[in-house]
Amino acid sequence: MALIVQKYGGTSVGNPERIKNVAARVAKYRAKGDQVVVVVSAMSGVTDNLIKLAKEIMPLPNEREMDVLLATGEQTTIALAAIALHSLGLPAVSLTGAQAGIVTDGVHTKARIQNITPQKIHDLLNEGNVVIVAGFQGQTTEGQVTTLGRGGSDLTAIALAAALKADLCQIYTDVDGVYTADPRIVPGARKLEEISYDEMLELASLGAKVMQSRSVEFAKKFGVVFEVRSSLNENPGTIVKEETKNMESVVVRGVSLDKNQAKVTLVAVPDKPGVAARIFKAIGDSNVNVDMIVQNISHGSGAPATDLSFTVDKPDLLKAQKVIDGLKEEIGFGKVISTDKIGKLSIVGVGMKSHTGVAGKMFDTLAREGVNIDMISTSEIKISVVIDLAKGEAAMRAVHAAFLG
Ligand code: ASP
Ligand code: MG
Repeated sequence: MALIVQKYGGTSVGNPERIKNVAARVAKYRAKGDQVVVVVSAMSGVTDNLIKLAKEIMPLPNEREMDVLLATGEQTTIALAAIALHSLGLPAVSLTGAQAGIVTDGVHTKARIQNITPQKIHDLLNEGNVVIVAGFQGQTTEGQVTTLGRGGSDLTAIALAAALKADLCQIYTDVDGVYTADPRIVPGARKLEEISYDEMLELASLGAKVMQSRSVEFAKKFGVVFEVRSSLNENPGTIVKEETKNMESVVVRGVSLDKNQAKVTLVAVPDKPGVAARIFKAIGDSNVNVDMIVQNISHGSGAPATDLSFTVDKPDLLKAQKVIDGLKEEIGFGKVISTDKIGKLSIVGVGMKSHTGVAGKMFDTLAREGVNIDMISTSEIKISVVIDLAKGEAAMRAVHAAFLG
């Protein structure tokens, strides 16, 4: 007998038929004698719709009230899932986040879990129930309803698996697992049998969004091994776990393409102390996230000057431009060139720590494709390049073929 936490995302509970499928799957595990805790998201589209409704009334609604509102999405699904299990003759009890003992801080709309008291869940399981817990929500010690940030049901599942010391944690979604690349762009992409937490986090922050990043960080911190798999078929998924020695034998685990970045270049920036600080302090103060930064060495004669490029999220480009325009006089740089026609192509793999020549192979592959590299950045397990957006997908296919083909 195992204790299993299963999380079903919005698509997996998107209509009554799908909810019945979830119940049937749970029933199969129960029939084997396993104890099952089910965490559900709101039905697909519901959370977005609730946000839209509130914003139609007022553009910036009060965050406490938003939490009360958004928590209803998951509360609907837990009851429907319990009813679906009852229809199969299985005892099941639904619990809100608060009833499940999930205590958070008071930061409405992005609360952090402080502790979980899982006694109630254990009691209900021991009485023979399937326990269905509302994802994405909790309660403060003062009894206020809170939510955990978009996609937060993943976090509920991982945190519950840790608190319950579950034997297995399964994240059911509408894809078969984590792939070496987006199969819609790279036909040869393959499903991975396993991936390390760090690789998963890099790929997620690089645009390959399968799970909420915070939940993967939490799993890493508490050593929760989990499986990402599809609720629409029986295929085994991808196991996400701590890096093992043999994982390093694979140099590149995955390739990602982030099309949501824009680039700003400042030409002829005075090369003296304090200038970069001034620029990025101002950008930071306007709440724009900067990703890559590249600065050249000074060249030419006269007062030393350098070109400075950086990337931001595409929706923040106008804001960043405005900040830069405001600094032009004070700092005295030349022209400003910005474009949102870029793609950030990355390769990720823990094997890069112990293999050489990876960057050279990636750049050589791009050169053969006639792709010019605008910017480069690296970490211990990642190499990213900024390239022309129009060539992004072809470049991704070529790099995938070179490392993973
Ligand atoms: N329903 C919430 C959202 O859409 C939480 C979740 O789906 O995980 O963000
Ligand atoms: Mg979701």
